[in-house]
Amino acid sequence: MKRRSFIKSAAVTGAAAAAATTIAAPAIAKGKRQLKMVTTWPKNFPGLGTGAERLAKRISEASDGQLTVKIYAAGELVPPFESFDAVANGTADMYHAADYYWQGKHKGFTFFTTIPFGFTAAEMNAWIYFGGGQELWDELAAGFGLKNLLGGNTGVQWGGWFNKEIKSLEDMKGLKMRMPGLGGEVLRRIGAAAVTLPGGEIFPALQSGAIDATEWVGPWNDLAFGFYKITKYYYWPGFHEPGAALALGMNKKMWDSLSKSEQALIQAAAAAENDMMYAEYKAKDSDALDTLLNKHGVKLRRMPNEVLQEIGNVSGALMEEIAAGDPMTKKIYDSFLDFRKKSIRMSKLSDLAYLQARNLPFKYGN
Ligand code: CA
Repeated sequence: MKRRSFIKSAAVTGAAAAAATTIAAPAIAKGKRQLKMVTTWPKNFPGLGTGAERLAKRISEASDGQLTVKIYAAGELVPPFESFDAVANGTADMYHAADYYWQGKHKGFTFFTTIPFGFTAAEMNAWIYFGGGQELWDELAAGFGLKNLLGGNTGVQWGGWFNKEIKSLEDMKGLKMRMPGLGGEVLRRIGAAAVTLPGGEIFPALQSGAIDATEWVGPWNDLAFGFYKITKYYYWPGFHEPGAALALGMNKKMWDSLSKSEQALIQAAAAAENDMMYAEYKAKDSDALDTLLNKHGVKLRRMPNEVLQEIGNVSGALMEEIAAGDPMTKKIYDSFLDFRKKSIRMSKLSDLAYLQARNLPFKYGN
């Protein structure tokens, strides 16, 4: 009896609350919405593609079906590199992609993925969330009718696969290497012949000898692509993508039409995926590297400092040139550069110092 009256009163209260809510905030009573998410990744693509799928699923589940995100792999709704326009013009509601793909739209987008010798994943998060990065990204994206959030990170990418050893700067001259974006431009400036190839074309190009070397991501993703079958020298560290961030780009009108709670939910889901993807790379790279070294006879090599030093000089000069191109890019660059200085100082005294200390040859466990 007591229980029944409780249920009855709860039902009445619930109905009254619902009615009051409907009057107070009509946006909540709009009903369920299905959002289309296009991606630049093939279906089930490990890390990047599966991360986008996990993000879509999380939004759908966390909203209890209020917002259902239907995901489209590269080419299913639009070709991958048309994702930006598709979301800007409303053909799709959101994309999951690397914003540096849109540097043809505006150079400023590059800063929100990764910059040669730029931020690590942790530093990128710090800049975007607390260093003014999100505000600059909002300003840039709004000009194209977009609202973008961080939605994943690969962590430090590797130097890549080479068919010969690189012992000096001279060995880089004339080397035909697949490396897209600013990293490719840096390589051209030190005398290598950098080319841009989509993921699916790298293996055949290595096999035919059209290229001598390639970068992709890191051990987990690179193992899946089978580069070890052609080239045996695997170089670390990379300089070109020290923490490639992925973006959840949304149509701004769609974003503005969402309720505060729906926006908060999408923000939380994107931030969660930003962590999850990075954690997944961290977790899976180590076992993949073991497989490459022990099962496939891959030889690990460190990129010589002579090469990294020159690449650093060239990268810095290139960024200055890019920043001088237009006022918005300059504004983003100034913020990036300022935060980079702070990050270098703090990382030297904290993460880098600790990691070096942990590598001292003391006895710990077995
Ligand atoms: Ca890469």
